[in-house]
Amino acid sequence: MIHDVWLAKHPYLQRAADFHAQVAAAAAGISVARPHTPNFDDYVGDYKAGIPLLRSSQAAIDFEPAEPILVSLVESLASQPLPEKFADECRVLHTQLRGEMNAPRQAVAWLLDNEVFEPAHPGLLHYLGWTALARFLSPLVDGFGSWRVEEHWFRSYCPTCGSAPAMAQLVGIDPGRLRLLSCGCCSTRWRYRRIGCPFCESADDHRLSALAIEGEKYLRIDYCQSCHAYLKTYNGEGSESLFLADWTSLHLDIIACDRGLKRLAASLYEL
Ligand SMILES: [Zn+2]
Ligand SMILES: [Zn+2]
Repeated sequence: MIHDVWLAKHPYLQRAADFHAQVAAAAAGISVARPHTPNFDDYVGDYKAGIPLLRSSQAAIDFEPAEPILVSLVESLASQPLPEKFADECRVLHTQLRGEMNAPRQAVAWLLDNEVFEPAHPGLLHYLGWTALARFLSPLVDGFGSWRVEEHWFRSYCPTCGSAPAMAQLVGIDPGRLRLLSCGCCSTRWRYRRIGCPFCESADDHRLSALAIEGEKYLRIDYCQSCHAYLKTYNGEGSESLFLADWTSLHLDIIACDRGLKRLAASLYEL
């Protein structure tokens, strides 16, 4: 399924698609230093203990090169024509990041949950910040993916950055069909139990209920009757960049919200 076909079928997603494309193009125009790759063997103890890579003192990732990427991205968008709300918010964020010498460092630490920072527009900074960080971290995410033994993780949060999953994906065919969880921040995909809710895993190992969406062959909503959280699920393979991108399924968030379900991962939907 290609991008244009999807939009022709879902014209109400056009504005989200345009904004997503504009941010992606601005990010692609920024030159990015390659992150230093840690020695993963130093990190293996933390990995087995459930500490995500980016939060491990053993891995000790240097985030300083990500700071100018974030500032450049916000700066670039602040100087472009954008829908009114985003134009104002980008300008305010730009002023905030330029206002204090430490602001970019604090903003990156805030994205990683390490620091109290009060962004003027948290939803937009989260989205732009993770777009910048994901671009910087992409080689590291790939290297980590090759090193990682999936069976040693099986946790409900991202092994790279620690975020809650934004989406799920079912791959392969039964028996032996696997469920992957997908991070909306750093784009890592990791394996998780096939059944059960990743948001209240201490509860009984109950099944999630699946809600089919009329006209959507590849997408459904899995939700938990216990905690009422939901997970948008891509029921296929080969079009991950389309179906696992949050903006392509914002209509599912609206359906879930109308049913009183809760989204527990950050989303473009909040913007
Ligand atoms: Zn992540
Ligand atoms: Zn639950």
